[in-house]
Amino acid sequence: SRLKKGLLKTRQGITEKIDTLLKSYKKIDEEFLEELEEILIMSDVGMDTTLKIMDKLREKINDRKISETSEVKEVLKEVMIEFLTTSKDSSLNISPSPAIILVIGVNGVGKTTSIGKIAYNLKSQGKKVLLAAGDTFRAAAIDQLKVWGERIGVNVVHQSEGSDPGAVVFDAIQAAKARKIDVLICDTAGRLHNKKNLMNELSKIFKIIDREYPEAKREVLLVLDATTGQNAIQQAKTFKEAANITGIVLTKLDGTAKGGVILGITSELDVPVKLIGIGEGKEDLQPFEPEEFIEALLS
Ligand code: GDP
Repeated sequence: SRLKKGLLKTRQGITEKIDTLLKSYKKIDEEFLEELEEILIMSDVGMDTTLKIMDKLREKINDRKISETSEVKEVLKEVMIEFLTTSKDSSLNISPSPAIILVIGVNGVGKTTSIGKIAYNLKSQGKKVLLAAGDTFRAAAIDQLKVWGERIGVNVVHQSEGSDPGAVVFDAIQAAKARKIDVLICDTAGRLHNKKNLMNELSKIFKIIDREYPEAKREVLLVLDATTGQNAIQQAKTFKEAANITGIVLTKLDGTAKGGVILGITSELDVPVKLIGIGEGKEDLQPFEPEEFIEALLS
């Protein structure tokens, strides 16, 4: 499948090593479990999450009196699916319309690309979409969003570089109301080095949305780059302090062996991963389904 192909490098990092391990041990013993633990840690699942996964795995193995390594993979899949399933809904909260999606994340993680892909998907579903170029800090960000808008046939509300992001969002909301837009997607600046600035800027935007568009369903999506591995988790923690994130978009899973980081993100943050990026094209953003993902990863 497309997903399986996208996960090729991560599969090489986790699955191939697990398969080799399973071949070299027939019976489950401490040494086997330690080697399995090592594989998970090396594939960017993260230390804390790996230890939690291993505890759960040991528990299930004991409860079920499993002794053959050949049965371990199915149990591991089960445990990983549990870790990837949060208490929160993983579908986008956008219907019935109208809805507003605020997209946050540092520069370079794939924010603009993801906005373009989300807009393309929603438009393909027959929804009226509008984009807002709220990352006014960089002229390139505005231009890039305009390029995506042209490519997929979606209008972009924008002002000049350096203008107030709140003003852009305000304009975009008025336009969305006037044009009866189903989903308004707003880009925001991706500066993280100054957390106070970031918080102020975001809270200004939230106030404008509260005041001007209270009827809209709201999503706050944080875009994270899977190739940055454990750094992505650190970024997510910082952003979580600045905004009420409702979902994560994990990009560039196709370009990395560090796809295991998705387990650490979900278990450490308790925010659902809602979308995953597995390529640069407009169709390469998929809804995240834990079972489908783990099947594609470990089968
Ligand atoms: P931004 O600065 O966060 O807006 O990042 P961009 O949207 O400009 O993306 C940075 C680079 O990452 C671009 O070259 C994108 O094509 C690429 N990119 C984004 N998402 C993905 C993905 O899921 N897979 C791959 N392979 N590349 C991606």
